[in-house]
This record gives sequence, structure tokens and C-alpha cells, in this order.
Amino acid sequence: MPGLDIIQEASRQLVICNACRYCEGYCPVFRAIETRRDFQQADVFYLSNLCHDCRACYYACMYTPPHEFAINIPQILAAARMETYRRWSWPAFMGRAFKNRGVTVVLATGFAALVAILALLFLPPEKLFVAHSGPGAFYEAVPYAAMVAGGLILFFYGIAVWMRGGASFWRETRSALNERGSWKALAAAVGAVLGLRYLKGGGPGCFYPDERPSSVRRVYHSLTFWGLASDFVSTTLAFVYQDFFHLLPPYSLTSAPVIFGGIGGAALIVGTGGLIWFKWRSDREPALAAAGGMDYVFLATLGLTALTGMLTLFLRATAAMGGILVLHLACIAALFISAPYGKFVHAVYRTLAVIRYEVEQSKPHATAGH
Ligand code: SF4
Ligand code: SF4
Repeated sequence: MPGLDIIQEASRQLVICNACRYCEGYCPVFRAIETRRDFQQADVFYLSNLCHDCRACYYACMYTPPHEFAINIPQILAAARMETYRRWSWPAFMGRAFKNRGVTVVLATGFAALVAILALLFLPPEKLFVAHSGPGAFYEAVPYAAMVAGGLILFFYGIAVWMRGGASFWRETRSALNERGSWKALAAAVGAVLGLRYLKGGGPGCFYPDERPSSVRRVYHSLTFWGLASDFVSTTLAFVYQDFFHLLPPYSLTSAPVIFGGIGGAALIVGTGGLIWFKWRSDREPALAAAGGMDYVFLATLGLTALTGMLTLFLRATAAMGGILVLHLACIAALFISAPYGKFVHAVYRTLAVIRYEVEQSKPHATAGH
């Protein structure tokens, strides 16, 4: 049973690390290890989502292959992480997307193509491929109801799958060490997640794309994270403008939705592009081959969504607006439908793992005996 092999192998390596403890300053994973004697499935699942693949421990380790201990912590924890993504996927058969990136690619491109085909079939070309101006110009090309209905269904579907998976993570990784936290621990976890505090690899940064530490991966990651947050704020503000103040888009370049959207879009393009570039150039030895494809699909879909969004902004007064808008909506559909079945899920499990960690750290340390 592959899942069991991963747990056994992770447990073997973590027991050696717990005796060695050379890497305890690098990240929370090693500090969490030290409060345990052995490593059951729940511990491995929790620790795997606490690891952010900075690779500091891999390059510091004197027991990596060809040493007989064959320690490769980033790789085995990535394998365990993938197992958690698959295990808590819903519906269960969609878990295969985490073993075969082709499933996610087909799903994402299939939905994107469906949106584009439906647009070409049902939207009159004389509306889609001509310039529109003034309030409601976007809805002249693509009707508001068609634009919003599909997006909302996919958005709430993705949120529901995430919440279900998150509840499973919380239930299955519970231990005597991390039960019942405090508000203070929760606040510390939120601060750590928002500030990407644990992406520092023990101080000097992640060991990407090679064995030299640098803060650049954290910068790219921050741009992606905050770019997405900024675009979410932009969309929410546009909703308030339209549905509460009856102000229809397009909005001026100095309006809040456009400013947040523009900053978020630019940050996402640079952030996702940088992460793709780093991943492409990175050392394959500490990597899990199956995870790479999933990362590329997620980053490319997110980057293309941002790029087509920015093009829609720049070309909104031209006859190209309708076509670009349809492309942007197709990218959003691809992003939403692939979100529960790709790298996006790590945002949920990692956040919960950091909360678990802060809860553990807030308690007097007692070694959990299993
Ligand atoms: S990764 Fe290697 S050096 Fe680091 S704690 Fe484990 S065994 Fe020790
Ligand atoms: S790869 Fe980085 S985050 Fe993961 S266990 Fe090693 S030091 Fe910690």
C-alpha cells in the first residue's frame, strides 16, 4: 500500500532526525519533531503540511544519499503531503488528480474551453467583437448574469471542498499536544501565515534554486499571496460599487477597484512567473517529481488569469475587449475548477498546520508518548 510505505519511510527518517537534531533551528518541523518520540500517520500528515520545502535541511544534512541513512526530508514530506491532498479530496475519485497531473490539466483546460465555446455560440459577434464604452460596457459584450452565475457556482463549490478537506485535516491530525488552543496562539498563527514568517529557512531564506540561501523565493511567494488578496479586495469593492451604489463598470483608473486590481494583477504576474522560473531551475534531488507538475499547472493558471485580467483593463476601450474578457473568464473557470484538485489546497492545510504548531508551542512542552 503506497500510502503506508510513505508513512513508514517518513517515520524512519524523522526518528533519525530526532536523534540528530542538527536542523532544529531551520523551521517549525524540527521543533515539532522534538516534542514527539515516534511518528504515527497523524504526526506525519501534520508535519508534512508544516514543511514548506525550503530545502535548508537537505543541504545541511550529512546523511543524504549515498549515505546508508538515505535522509531526504523535503522529498519524503512532499510525498506525505501529496498523500494528504489525495486522501482528503472530494469526491474521493478526484484524488487521482494528485497522482496524475493530467487529470487537473484536462479539467482546467476542459472548463476553459467550455466557457470559450459557449461564449462563441451564444454571444452575438456584433456585441462581442466591437468597442463598447460607458457604464455597463463589459455587460454589452458578456451579459452580467452569464458572467457571475458560473463564477459563483465554481467559487462556492471550491470553498465547500476546501472546508471539507480542512475539517478532515483537523480531525485526523489531532494529538494530545495540539488540542484546544488559545486566542493568542491563533493570533500568532495568523501573523505567521500572513507574514510568511516560516519561509525564511532558519533566517537567510529558502535554498532555491540551488544550495545558496536567498530571500527571493519568499518575495515571489509574497507577491503571489498578496497579489491574490489584492485582486480579491478589488472584486469585492467592484461588487459593492455596483450592487450598493449602482455604479456600473468600467471604473476609472484612479478608482479603488482598478487600483487594487492593477496592483494585484502585476504582483501575481511577477510572483507566479518568478516561482515558475525558480522551480524550473531548481535542484531535482530533494524534489518529488509528481509534485512539480501540479505546481506548474497551478502557477500557470493563476498567472494567466492575472495576465488576461490586466489585458482586459488595458484593452477595455477597444474592439478586442470582448474576446479578451472571454479569455479572462475562461482562465477564471480553469482556476476555480482546478483549485480543489491542485496546489491551491496547500493554502488550507498549511494554514491549519501552522495553527496546530502555534497551539503546541503555546503549551508547556511534554513529549507525546504514543
Ligand atoms: S536532516 Fe539530517 S542533519 Fe538535519 S536533523 Fe535530520 S538527520 Fe540531522
Ligand atoms: S525543507 Fe525546510 S521547511 Fe521542510 S523540513 Fe526541511 S528545513 Fe523544514
